[in-house]
Amino acid sequence: MTPTGAACAHHPDVSAVATCMRCGTFLCGDCTELVGESPCCAPCVALLRKEARPSRVVQVALALNVVGLACLPCSLALPLPTLVAGLAGVVLGMRELRRIARGEGAERGRNQARVTAALGGLNLGLAAGWMTVLWFGDFRT
Ligand SMILES: [Zn+2]
Ligand SMILES: [Zn+2]
Repeated sequence: MTPTGAACAHHPDVSAVATCMRCGTFLCGDCTELVGESPCCAPCVALLRKEARPSRVVQVALALNVVGLACLPCSLALPLPTLVAGLAGVVLGMRELRRIARGEGAERGRNQARVTAALGGLNLGLAAGWMTVLWFGDFRT
């Protein structure tokens, strides 16, 4: 949608080149931000970012890590579920934090991503410790 003859809502001297896809405000080139392919005004971009849902992938990784932590005491010499969950938590949590820092991820998901990465690290550490203790124990018997 390209309005003709309309001026930017924030710069009355500059003619608008686009309208915000959400609120319909006239925007000049400087005021236009892109969400995907659609032009959007700055307040709406901020709003959309705030309303965006936290990443589903991170939620799954977080759940995996809780399960992995709970599984550790009943796993055998190789705590595979805990290792896999820990690795997924660290990788996905860090990736989501980077996306949020770039403004691509949901701001609300920041804490969740942090917890996921931290829990993933904890799981990796515990799994490594678990294996060390078990294998060390094996050597002695
Ligand atoms: Zn808008
Ligand atoms: Zn403008």
